[in-house]
Amino acid sequence: MEGPLNKVADGTARGLGLWYTLSHVAHCPQCRRFLESLKAMIGKLHRAREVEPSEESVQRMLNAYRMSAPPGG
Ligand SMILES: [Zn+2]
Repeated sequence: MEGPLNKVADGTARGLGLWYTLSHVAHCPQCRRFLESLKAMIGKLHRAREVEPSEESVQRMLNAYRMSAPPGG
């Protein structure tokens, strides 16, 4: 169940897969705990990114943007 749980935790699960996983989690304490800990971990990662946008990652994004811009533009 780990793959589907990952998708539910990070919000990429859709449709039947999402429904099936949620209905399983509703009666499986083990998977429910796992899903909760995944969500907590992902939430922490997102918060860390918002609080601390490192200068290096911003610079890398700008470089990638310049590289993808059409030449001569
Ligand atoms: Zn389970």
